[in-house]
Amino acid sequence: MDELEADCLFEIKQSKNGLGMFATRNINRGELILNEKPLVKLKQNVPKLQLNMYIEHQVSKLGEQDKAKIFELYDNQSSKSLVGIFKTNGYMLGKKSEYCGLFYVMARVNHSCRPNATHHWVESEGAQKVFALKNIDSGEEICTSYIDPFEDTLNRKRILKKSFDFECSCELCLNKGDFDLEKSDERRRMLKELQNMRPRMGLQNPDLFLSKKKLMLTLLKEEGIEYDSYCVNRIAYDKMESERTKTVHETKMKVNQEVSVPQHKEVAINPHKEVAVPQHKELAVPAHKEIGIPHHFSVPRERF
Ligand SMILES: [Zn+2]
Repeated sequence: MDELEADCLFEIKQSKNGLGMFATRNINRGELILNEKPLVKLKQNVPKLQLNMYIEHQVSKLGEQDKAKIFELYDNQSSKSLVGIFKTNGYMLGKKSEYCGLFYVMARVNHSCRPNATHHWVESEGAQKVFALKNIDSGEEICTSYIDPFEDTLNRKRILKKSFDFECSCELCLNKGDFDLEKSDERRRMLKELQNMRPRMGLQNPDLFLSKKKLMLTLLKEEGIEYDSYCVNRIAYDKMESERTKTVHETKMKVNQEVSVPQHKEVAINPHKEVAVPQHKELAVPAHKEIGIPHHFSVPRERF
């Protein structure tokens, strides 16, 4: 799909900080806003001294139109260069990927600490997708979070400055509206802790796990960062894994009974072994760091 087809849900126009993405109609939570393939993919572990040459070589393989698109992108350094453009706009292609990519449209999406959209790299399609996290009004700017939003204000400022070289001027950081920054920071610290719960806990102590997930939903709602769909997905996923484990275990028991395996052999059946820690490629619902919680966005400067 061409991201700039006539039926697209956004337009790129002037924002308070350069260009930005704006909704051209009301967008419902969960709607796909953008589906974009990178103009160019680059390996991240290129030695610093060879970086410029490497990027130039990759870009030289592109058509004239794509090359022109790359040079339209913003460079936050004083003089425009391919390395600078990449550092300013690059996105890691998945959490553990050794590649990062440069996107023409995605590069216009600005950051907010209270984002109304999220992006997700889909390896099987080789595309970055942007989804609405909440209902977005026509004319509203569409923003994602470039960093883990569960950092408190000071940490967010520090990370954004270090990795992206800008001071955040979102409504939360400017303390506009009815926000109580102190309470917000406290909620985000709690959310960060809750986010780190291991999926295995859902199997070891499902009740406690679910109660913590529910607390997470409450905090998210209070915080106005509507990642609830993500949480619901996680709960659904953990339930599903729990059921799957049970099913696998029961099936094995049944098979064992049918083939008259001596009872003691069942000791070898270890439900935990079957369960597991989510294998990203097999999941219907991606593991949480791949879904709602943006963490990768741009290429940290120190990587170059
Ligand atoms: Zn902010």
